[in-house]
Amino acid sequence: MSEPNQEIIIVGGGAGGAELAVRLARAGCGPLRLIDQAASHVWKPRLHELAAGASKGELGEIPYQDIAERWGFVFEQGALADIDAEAKTICLDDDSTHDYRLLVLAVGGVTPDLGVEGVKEHAVMLDRYPDAPALYQRFTAALDKAAAQPPRPARVAIVGSGLTGVELAGYLASNPEVVASPDSGLPQTLEIHLIEASSTFMPVIDDDRTREDVRSRLADLGIRIHTGQKIAQVQADGVKTESGDRFDADMTVWAAGRVGPPLASRIDALATNDAQQWLIRDTLQSRDYDDIFAIGDCSACPQAEWPATAQVASQQAEHLSEQITAYLDGRAPTAFSFGDKGMLMSFGNGGDLGLVVGPTNDYVRISGHVSHAAYRGLQRQHQWVLLGTKTTLEGAVGDVVDALS
Ligand SMILES: Cc1cc2nc3c(=O)[nH]c(=O)nc-3n(C[C@H](O)[C@H](O)[C@H](O)COP(=O)(O)OP(=O)(O)OC[C@H]3O[C@@H](n4cnc5c(N)ncnc54)[C@H](O)[C@@H]3O)c2cc1C
Repeated sequence: MSEPNQEIIIVGGGAGGAELAVRLARAGCGPLRLIDQAASHVWKPRLHELAAGASKGELGEIPYQDIAERWGFVFEQGALADIDAEAKTICLDDDSTHDYRLLVLAVGGVTPDLGVEGVKEHAVMLDRYPDAPALYQRFTAALDKAAAQPPRPARVAIVGSGLTGVELAGYLASNPEVVASPDSGLPQTLEIHLIEASSTFMPVIDDDRTREDVRSRLADLGIRIHTGQKIAQVQADGVKTESGDRFDADMTVWAAGRVGPPLASRIDALATNDAQQWLIRDTLQSRDYDDIFAIGDCSACPQAEWPATAQVASQQAEHLSEQITAYLDGRAPTAFSFGDKGMLMSFGNGGDLGLVVGPTNDYVRISGHVSHAAYRGLQRQHQWVLLGTKTTLEGAVGDVVDALS
């Protein structure tokens, strides 16, 4: 048992927290405890693939205990319930408590229901690992229901044309049990409506050509895109828009943005913004306490607009691993600055597309095998941090074989 207040505690082992734990352990920083509510780590940017029927193995699920044993830190499965920042103690949902010397919050975010009636009751979301198999179960149930006599296409409404919405739409339409292409000559078994409140499709992307490219890839998969349609109500069998339109749906997926965790607004010790994210300084320290840091989707720095992406969480983890060492030596942490490397998207049979930042800081468009390799490469890079070179190389060889077959 460690001395009181000696442990560095990281809560949340996702894209940011898991990388931070390993980087700190490798730097000999400790004693270190990683706490996550789940038993296994998964690379969330590919969660939509699992939700559309990919096998769990394809996503490279890694038990936290294995990572902890490999690098020599403590893993504990548990959910953060409260923080007493004055006493430097956290409380988990089983009422156990831990003293900390330094606390890092990395618990990610959730999709907001935006106060829309019926979302919680009838829609599915893709926030956590267990949501993905649950979504797939709902999807196959919808297909089965629609195939019953008289057969008709299964109808899916996806609300929100951010990365989650568009990639999920592409992968659902590519599921082998589905014939969604209008050109295939076969009867369509799936009808996907992708519904966006903004008048612009994929409003988060600042590039008309890319938006058009994504739109036409999804259209080729038979996906119907509707913009300027704000949802007023989600019902058991469809969605109603503010303008009075209705889309029938056997399953509604709610993918309307990202906010911080509900937990953040329940913890009195730390200030949050309107999107229930913990307010941090550019050093990634909480606004209120020097010895509490927050990274990734659960945090926001008012002086900077960092997007809620794995790319940001990972860069913050790398920065923080150096700053924590300095902080524990009595030096002041330095400011984090985000280096945008672009974005990569994958649409199943609709192919891959990427915008990467080139040498002159302009976006360079990539597609096809190059983009697919880069998309997989992001996960490999993450695995390399968590598992080291040998295991990552073995996986990368598998990717090359996949790409060539
Ligand atoms: C379908 C989908 C596609 C995406 N595609 C991309 C993409 O292409 N590129 C990109 O950069 N980003 C993408 N993202 C976003 C990216 O996954 C997130 O921005 C990133 O994972 C955030 O990292 P994080 O460390 O903040 O949180 P997360 O990765 O969400 O990890 C949070 C961790 O905290 C744990 N946790 C939560 N609450 C508690 C609690 N109370 N106590 C203990 N543990 C807790 C969770 O179990 C989880 O392990 C995508 C997201 C989704 C859902």
